[in-house]
Amino acid sequence: MFRYEIRPLENRVWLSSPTMHGEELDYMQTAYRTNWMSTVGENINTIEKELAELVGVKAAVGLSAGTAALHLCVKLAGVGPGDLVACSDMTFSATVNPVTYEGGEQVFIDTERDTWNMDPAALREAFARYPGIKTVVSANLYGTPARLDEIRAICEENGAILIEDAAESLGAVYKGRQTGSFGRFNAISFNGNKIITGSSGGMLLTDDEQAAAQARSWSTQSRDAAPWYQHKEIGYNYRISNVIAGVVRGQLPHLQEHIAQKKAIYERYRDGFKDLPVHMNPFDEQNSVPNYWLSCLLLDEEAMCEQTRDDHTAVYTPAPGKTCPTEILETLAAHNAEGRPIWKPMHMQPFYRERRFVKVCEQSVGEDIFRRGLCLPSDNKMTPEEQNRIIEIVKACFA
Ligand SMILES: *Cc1c(COP(=O)(O)O)cnc(C)c1O
Repeated sequence: MFRYEIRPLENRVWLSSPTMHGEELDYMQTAYRTNWMSTVGENINTIEKELAELVGVKAAVGLSAGTAALHLCVKLAGVGPGDLVACSDMTFSATVNPVTYEGGEQVFIDTERDTWNMDPAALREAFARYPGIKTVVSANLYGTPARLDEIRAICEENGAILIEDAAESLGAVYKGRQTGSFGRFNAISFNGNKIITGSSGGMLLTDDEQAAAQARSWSTQSRDAAPWYQHKEIGYNYRISNVIAGVVRGQLPHLQEHIAQKKAIYERYRDGFKDLPVHMNPFDEQNSVPNYWLSCLLLDEEAMCEQTRDDHTAVYTPAPGKTCPTEILETLAAHNAEGRPIWKPMHMQPFYRERRFVKVCEQSVGEDIFRRGLCLPSDNKMTPEEQNRIIEIVKACFA
């Protein structure tokens, strides 16, 4: 039941889908023709070299997923049973799950308004409350850098190791430096929805070449030098395939072009919504250049109609002049466009509800952004005409 007449989009507009260019197929075919169809080969060597150069770190290890990279980061940091690890709260679960793989316990850190990332003030408070914290996992949500120098300084003051989850922020810059280079150990992802993709895959980035060698060994089952399979420690089958690496290799020259497309999408939304009671996902304009991976909206409190969510469903009561993320997302879906709620904070997830959570405001900022925010269709193949239609669809929800 809609209060306006707008035609659905002819083609589904995705949140963020793979965008191929042709070179990907060439590199995959070369892998096939030369029979380097496994976890060794020129594509892997090349992307490791190119990404280390691009991000500005000494070493890169190609892996089967960003999650695998984060798991090996957590192992390199030495997290073990019972260890407390301060983690971003409003993020995708893959940021924090590897802590559990190693028996550690997350201390979730609330979100700040200015970047929608880990709040440095809450991180400081967490160290005061739980001096046992020796590792911090900080994500750059939606392609926006966190306050990485502050977070790094707090880690240094407290003798903690920083792990940066740059899965969503490849190509984003903070104070002149690429994200994915601020942690002692860092992770990026080539999942199908990211700014560039391999269809899957990920990478561990670090300046510590010995640590990179350790990660490479773990990722290939920790085989010792011996005439037979010999293992002195546990291993994993986490290495990237040379075929997947071929896709990444073909995508890499298009990273800046993808960022420019995503930026144009963000700015078109910002201009299109300038008269609505909303704000776009913010970033530190002085110090950072996002990769604009996803464009998001935050509705002003006064514009919110009543919306109730439990663990699996959402309902709302339409009201004139007001709307809510649920109404906007349902309306977009009815018009053939894919939006998404804000990543639901980890401290609100059934699996993690018992964990410690540190906030410095009376109300959790992450809970508030989750309630009033949403991710807009941000696919870089969306045409300006399609985006204008989406803007009209969203505007109509406020009628
Ligand atoms: C996608 C993503 C990951 C995981 O990457 P995969 O390659 O899908 O395993 C980790 N953290 C964040 C924030 C992500 O968005």
